[in-house]
Amino acid sequence: TVSTTQNFIGKEARWGARNYQPVPVVVDHARDCLVWDVEGRTYIDMMGAYSAVSHGHLHPRIVAAAERQLGRVAVTSRAYHGTTLGPFLEKLCAIAGFERALPMNTGAEAVETAIKCARRWGHFVKGIADGRQEILVARGNFHGRTSTIVGFSSEPEYRAGFGPFAPGFAHFDFGDMDSVRAAATGNTCAVLVEPIQGEAGVIVPPAGFFAELREWCTKNNVLLIIDEVQSGLGRTGRWFAFEHEGIRPDALILGKALGGGLLPVSAFLADDAVMGVFNPGSHGSTFGGNALAAAVALEGLKVIEDENLVARSAALGEYLNKRLREVAAEAAPLVRAVRGRGLWVGVDIDPAHATARELVEKLAAGGVLSKETHDTVIRFAPPLTITKALVDRAVQVFRQVLLDKRA
Ligand code: PMP
Repeated sequence: TVSTTQNFIGKEARWGARNYQPVPVVVDHARDCLVWDVEGRTYIDMMGAYSAVSHGHLHPRIVAAAERQLGRVAVTSRAYHGTTLGPFLEKLCAIAGFERALPMNTGAEAVETAIKCARRWGHFVKGIADGRQEILVARGNFHGRTSTIVGFSSEPEYRAGFGPFAPGFAHFDFGDMDSVRAAATGNTCAVLVEPIQGEAGVIVPPAGFFAELREWCTKNNVLLIIDEVQSGLGRTGRWFAFEHEGIRPDALILGKALGGGLLPVSAFLADDAVMGVFNPGSHGSTFGGNALAAAVALEGLKVIEDENLVARSAALGEYLNKRLREVAAEAAPLVRAVRGRGLWVGVDIDPAHATARELVEKLAAGGVLSKETHDTVIRFAPPLTITKALVDRAVQVFRQVLLDKRA
């Protein structure tokens, strides 16, 4: 007989497109930091859906907010005003320190919003001829999967066969100001960059890079747009990763955790002078800022505040980092580096000894969910509600996986 797990995996393999290759775990239900599969096995969620489940699975307050809203109205589209969108945007702007926010659904949509806004700003405000605007992006970037966005990826895997791509993007090396200056022209209207490169393997920039970039952008009248889809809302131990750099961007992109672990909610934030380039009819999405999404996202922001999840991420992140460094030292030479900020860690595996994928599969078999990035990095991004006891258990499993591999 076919196991329940094989049955569900088989259906996905038969009827789905083959655009993902997850580990063989079929999730049945989840609560906070724990996940149960269809065989009744329990897992510690050390991945949190790539930082989308920062509040823990099915946070009771966020579920209750959704249920309250489901008793009123869920989706109306932006054809009408509602009772939840305004309060959500007000709260979001207060937390992030921007004058306006534009709600969308996915991270990629909010990035597309940023690109459109930057180009219009470049034309309307900076006076660049329309069609000549250029945006600088980092090598190794990840901003989503639409054709415009993969068009400026530097990863062959994300691009191959998907051309032709939109022009108007130029690359610099993440962390290298000389390459920013070399890539810029008089038509440069914006720099679009992650504060820490997530999909590239949790790459932390060299100290001082962002301060210098900020100064250069101001001097050259170029917008600094920071994509915090993965890093934002407490992940790095601050509300926003740019705070570690002592800077403020001109615009901010949020997603993932903004949906409270329940729904896709993203946003593009900027001040009047930048957001003002949008007028009615110039941009939008049927579901962006819908009544249910806004209710859920608002409650999610309040939960982060009320439960002090940002401080918790800083403290437990430091602990997770320290424990992983200890295990890495013990398992030398399997691990080349442990890096990250807050509850966001990349463990760099020496490919001479193991692939990240095989270790991720062994971790899953041992009851810990993580994610490999490329062939060499294992990424951990647990819910910010994780406990010290669960971190200890997860690290213990990881230690055993590494030591077994080395043996
Ligand atoms: N920006 C960053 C920094 C991301 O990490 C991601 C997703 N990993 C995205 C954008 C795209 O978000 P989505 O998958 O919701 O489109």
